[in-house]
Amino acid sequence: MKMSNLYAPTLREVPAEAEVVSHQLMLRAGMIRKATGGVYSYLPLAWRTLRKIEQIVREEMDAKGGQEIAMPIVQPAEIWQQTGRWDVYGDEMFRLKDRHQRDFCLGPTHEEMVTTLVKADVRSYRQLPLLVYQIQNKYRDEIRPRFGLMRGREFIMKDLYSFDRDAAGLDISYKKMYDAYTKIFSRCGLTFRPVEADPGAIGGSGTHEFMVLADSGEAAIAYCEGCDYAANVEKAELQPIPSIGEASLPVVEKDTPGQRTIQDIANFLAITPDHLVKSLAYMTEKGPVLALVRGDHEVNEIKLLNLLNVLQLELAGEADIRQTFHSVPGYIGPIGLTGVTIVADASVMNMVNVVCGANVENKHLIQVTPARDFKPDHIVDLRLIKEGDPCPRCGEPVRTARGIEVGQVFKLHTKYSKSLQATYLDENGQENLMLMGCYGVGVSRTMAAAIEQHHDADGIIWPAAIAPYHAVIVPINIKDEAQMALCEQLYAELTAAGVETVLDDRDERSGVKFKDADLIGFPLRITVGPKALKENAVEVKNRRTKETTLFPLGGHVEQICRLLATL
Ligand code: ATP
Ligand code: MG
Repeated sequence: MKMSNLYAPTLREVPAEAEVVSHQLMLRAGMIRKATGGVYSYLPLAWRTLRKIEQIVREEMDAKGGQEIAMPIVQPAEIWQQTGRWDVYGDEMFRLKDRHQRDFCLGPTHEEMVTTLVKADVRSYRQLPLLVYQIQNKYRDEIRPRFGLMRGREFIMKDLYSFDRDAAGLDISYKKMYDAYTKIFSRCGLTFRPVEADPGAIGGSGTHEFMVLADSGEAAIAYCEGCDYAANVEKAELQPIPSIGEASLPVVEKDTPGQRTIQDIANFLAITPDHLVKSLAYMTEKGPVLALVRGDHEVNEIKLLNLLNVLQLELAGEADIRQTFHSVPGYIGPIGLTGVTIVADASVMNMVNVVCGANVENKHLIQVTPARDFKPDHIVDLRLIKEGDPCPRCGEPVRTARGIEVGQVFKLHTKYSKSLQATYLDENGQENLMLMGCYGVGVSRTMAAAIEQHHDADGIIWPAAIAPYHAVIVPINIKDEAQMALCEQLYAELTAAGVETVLDDRDERSGVKFKDADLIGFPLRITVGPKALKENAVEVKNRRTKETTLFPLGGHVEQICRLLATL
């Protein structure tokens, strides 16, 4: 490819709308252009990388016995109504009607579609296990489409579905996919961790997320260096903290004028936040809820959501706290509240002589002993794990990090085969439900995550396996015939050797070309100027290390290929 023909309109300025590095660099490198919020056109450089990621995914799916199919993006409402997800999916689903006013959606995922497909064709245990997958656009009307390709409303996903005879079969399929995902993200040159995750709305149980480690990640993970435990913080379980005192003094009301936050009250009463009960008021579709954790802890809203089995969970506003909770913002507490579901973290119930809101303006209660003074509706593990908390497996202090979820593997068991009646006949002629798993890779998100993890101040640093091109040849002076002849020779030789090469034949200053080469992130830059001609050698710069090496003409193609294989 000649750079003068390449459709990669690079930009010098950082686009104002782009908050994260991958979004900025993809716009600046001329890889993507926005069509509307969360919907992008992929230009040639992006498309080449996406196709490489897809190919890696495809090879690893095929290696595990996956068979590629293509299911419709437009899906009839009926199959979603049968599983109950037509209502559950809510506003995130793109819905449309045909000319007869029949309801359809654009597929956000394909459990309903694939189960309907497979159940019609699979009758016997002899046809199982079956693993089918596709790579296609998915549609989700995300509340906050953002960060470019990271959270799009149209995005590319690989989704594989496994159908097995029994739980043992599902375990095998799950393990195959877990291993395949490990290979995929390693081959893409990414540093990642599989973590235990929360099953969420998709249902089922037993799931891991594959997280690319990057500070810009939307997810937080906790991991242990003492053992191999790693989990999304949403999922990480915690043991209750044992009692921190003994003597139970009587409850006393205390004036705390204007002291509304945990830190205010702790300072005012000269205590530490772990001697306070933090009370958070939530509104849900099932009514008001008060969640209690120790003052120095945070509520894990996913644990709360799962416990209550609700879809909506929002912090109550000032008006709700007064009218629904009959309390006062900043002074809410569990004692004396009625008509409210109270959920306490188990550690709260081990506290002794602590402080909580009195549900009265400017007053708190002190010397509260929760186990004695109030009765929560639920006592559960409710808090969010934080750096230094004991590892749920081995007790060592955990570490935390940010991650980008690029893939997820799920055991669905019979959640969809039951509602859609996907059965098979076993050896004895008995009818059984198939056991299912689903396994997604965010292909477009993986490209963004690779950039988040691999870039510097000058631009992208592609791992060679997913680079749009491997090398760029930059002549210092395109008017110099000897330079151009050598460039053309190199271009032909490298292309023939399978090195995907761009020749920057533009009539631009070399500084401009170097800047674009760094921005686009070619793993290798080959500079052809007076030095190359004089020394009869090619000058090869490694984008990542910035090291320049001279390869004497002769063995140069082999040496370039060898270097590329290490990147
Ligand atoms: P998230 O929690 O980030 O919203 P999810 O758990 O809803 O994602 P899955 O249903 O597990 O996503 O989809 C499989 C994969 O598809 C995810 O691991 C992710 O890589 C990708 N993905 C999901 N939503 C988006 C999106 N809006 N834009 C780009 N990729 C996405
Ligand atoms: Mg997920």
